[in-house]
Amino acid sequence: MSSSFSPSEHFETNAVRLQQDRAEREHSVPIYLTSSFVFEDAEQARAMFADEIPGNIYTRFSNPNNSEFIQKLCVLEGTEDGIATASGMAAMWSSLAAFLRSGDHVLASRSLFGSTHQILTTLLPRWGITHTYADIAQPESWESLLQPNTKMIFVETPSNPALDIIDLEWLGNLAKKHNVLLNVDNCFATPYLQNPACYGADLVTHSATKFIDGQGRAIGGAVLGRADLIKEVRFFARHTGPSLSPFNGWILSKSLETLAVRMERHCQTALALAERLQSNPHIAYVKYPFLPTHPQYALARRQMRLGGGIVTFELKGGIEQGKRFLNALSMISHTANLGDTRTIATHPASTTHSKLKEEERLAVGITPGLIRVSVGLEHPEDILRDIERAITASIS
Ligand SMILES: *Cc1c(COP(=O)(O)O)cnc(C)c1O
Repeated sequence: MSSSFSPSEHFETNAVRLQQDRAEREHSVPIYLTSSFVFEDAEQARAMFADEIPGNIYTRFSNPNNSEFIQKLCVLEGTEDGIATASGMAAMWSSLAAFLRSGDHVLASRSLFGSTHQILTTLLPRWGITHTYADIAQPESWESLLQPNTKMIFVETPSNPALDIIDLEWLGNLAKKHNVLLNVDNCFATPYLQNPACYGADLVTHSATKFIDGQGRAIGGAVLGRADLIKEVRFFARHTGPSLSPFNGWILSKSLETLAVRMERHCQTALALAERLQSNPHIAYVKYPFLPTHPQYALARRQMRLGGGIVTFELKGGIEQGKRFLNALSMISHTANLGDTRTIATHPASTTHSKLKEEERLAVGITPGLIRVSVGLEHPEDILRDIERAITASIS
C-alpha cells in the first residue's frame, strides 16, 4: 500500500484513496496482465519461494491488481488479511475446503445461496463432511444443534430471498464459546452496511459479482479474515487455483471507490419502494429490513447501517400472478443476478427455487407469489411506476 496515505476513520476515503504505490506516477492503477514476475537474482527467487520476503511470483499466487482490491476490502471490512477469488463460489468453496476434514460437521443457516446449498448437501458428503441446517427464526435451537465435531458455522444475513436477519453479536459469542469457526457470507450487505468481523466472525466471504462490482460486468469473490486463517486459505488457493483475473481485480478495486455512494442510493430507493408498496391492495406483505413491520427491525437497525438494496413482496395471486407480473414489466430486467445499477425482478417460486417442493420453499420463506426486487440506480419514480403498473396488469 502507498506510503503517502494512511487509513482514515472514514469508509469513503479509504475506498477511494487506498492504493498501491504507483511506479510510473500514474493516477489510476494500470492493469498487470502478466502471468509471472521476473526475479532480480537467484537469492531473491529463493527467498520469495521460502516466504522469507513478500513479492509477486506468479499470478495464480498474487498480482498487484488483486492485492490492491483485497487490501482495500480488508480495511473496509475490518479484517487482517484476505484473498481474491475468481467468483463468489470460489470464495465459498475455498473458505470451506481449506478448513474442513473428513468427519467434520458444519452448522448452517437454512436459507443459503443455491450453490452453497449444493456444496453442503451434494459435494462435501463425498468427503464425509456433514451438515445441519438451523432456522433463523429459532435462534434458541442453534446451540443444541452443535455437535462435538462441528468445525464451522456458516450463515448469510440478510438471507436470500426471505431477508431474515441473524444476530451476529449473539452468533459471534456462540461460536467463540464452542470454539467453532464462524463464516459469514456478507454478499447481500456489503462491507458498507455491515462488518461481521467486528462481531467475531472468523471468516467473511463475498461474491464481489453483486453490489461490489455493482454494474453487472465482472465475476469475482473474496475470503477475508484473521491472518492465521487466511494463511490456510491462501495455501489452499495457491495450489488449487481459484485465482481472480487481474483485469477483474482492477474492475473490482475501482468499483470499491463508488460502493458507498451506490449503496446509499440503492438503500434509499429500496426503502421508498418498500414504504410505497405497503399500501398497495394487491400485495399480501412487503419485507425490507428497515421497515418497522419487519420481524427483526430492531436487530437490523442495530447491526446494519442501512436496509440493503433488496426488497421482497408477496402478490396475493400466487405463482400465476408472479409470472404475469414479470411479463408485464417494461423497464425492469428479468434476470437471475442482483446488485446491479439496473433494477432486477425475480420470481423464485417459478425460477431459482422451482425444483423444490412447496413445503421446502415455505421453509426458507419462499411464498408462491414472492417477488424479489434488486433495486437499481434508475430514478426512483421510474422504478416505482414500472412495478406498480406491472402489479395492476398482473391482476387476472
Ligand atoms: C451470487 C451469490 C454467491 C455466488 O457468487 P458468484 O460470484 O455468482 O459465484 C454466493 N452467495 C450469495 C449470497 C450470492 O448472492
